[in-house]
Amino acid sequence: MLRSTDRALGVHRVLEPRGTLPQAALRLDADPAVGPDEVRIAVQRLNLDAASFRQLSESCAGDGEAVRTAVLDIVAARGKMQNPVTGSGGMLIGTVDAVGPESPLGLTVGQRVATLVSLTLTPLRITDGLAGWDGRSEQVPAAGTAILFARSIAAVLPDDLPDAVALAVLDVCGAPAATARVVERSGARSVVVLGAAGKSGSLSLAAARAAGATNLIGLVRDDHEAAALSAAGLADRVVVADATDPLAVAAAVGAPADVTVVCVDVPGAEHGAVLATADGGTVVFFSMATSFSAAALGAEGMAADVTMLVGNGYTPGHAALALDLYRHQQGVRSLIDPRVEA
Ligand code: NAP
Repeated sequence: MLRSTDRALGVHRVLEPRGTLPQAALRLDADPAVGPDEVRIAVQRLNLDAASFRQLSESCAGDGEAVRTAVLDIVAARGKMQNPVTGSGGMLIGTVDAVGPESPLGLTVGQRVATLVSLTLTPLRITDGLAGWDGRSEQVPAAGTAILFARSIAAVLPDDLPDAVALAVLDVCGAPAATARVVERSGARSVVVLGAAGKSGSLSLAAARAAGATNLIGLVRDDHEAAALSAAGLADRVVVADATDPLAVAAAVGAPADVTVVCVDVPGAEHGAVLATADGGTVVFFSMATSFSAAALGAEGMAADVTMLVGNGYTPGHAALALDLYRHQQGVRSLIDPRVEA
């Protein structure tokens, strides 16, 4: 007999291996029938995690049809959208269409919501074969059902922003929240963001500024992104380097910073991030392409006394903070909007 606290975590939906939590499971039961403490969402759009989409796209050599087939195969096999290579997922938006009588989430039928729990633990069934998606964008128009557990979180979609924008911002809302928390708690003055012209990167720069940092360095991959970030005005200094080249990162950044935030969507940024960070400083690894062993062993090998944080996707107030930064910072909008399909 499952304890209600275990049920709240969705353990009853795990098919394989039994007894694991849904995030770690190989396969979930995506049956759309809701249990007494569950909520069902009629899915409208998925947002694939950037690291997952990039990996799928590269492994399919950019062939959109093949990417679509790969996503359908993953969801059919696993009952959730968890890329087996990156381990990451994303999130979704849709309409609440059934609420179990014991659900504590406070949602009502008809509300339009974004799930703030990862697709890697969300039971998902797709019913339209993703017919409206060309396989070339992180955002995926989709029909189907998703299940929220008693201990899930969802945000009612704001009515002043397009769905696609809200979805993109909410997907990465853990990054600005984590950045703000680290800057506030440590009193950090200097912050480096790797991948600073991306969605989580631009939000993290804005959050660092709002939290009191006074020396913001944005590292981007090329001159095109450098021009966009400079025009956005979010960083005091914009530098160009390949985040996966540690020596290039260190040379570009110069004096190491109090805090480094890793917002790239590619593997291999761990050592550059450590080198960019001053002794006693903190690295926030928001990227899902981060290797724990590369980060830990790399820091040890460089005798670097840095605190390394895994970018937890959840911090209280994270959704409101990110949406407000988007609403009020023209520079953030100028970087995010071109990345979002209307
Ligand atoms: P994004 O908008 O695509 O931004 C990533 C940025 O990194 C882009 O500007 C990209 O440039 C840049 N970049 C890629 N390779 C680079 C390199 N070698 N050197 C320098 N810059 C490079 O991605 P996002 O949506 O912000 O997501 C960023 C990361 O956050 C992903 O790894 C994602 O998995 C992770 N994430 C984590 C959580 C969590 O809960 N921790 C939640 C959501 C997402 P180009 O555009 O030119 O390629």
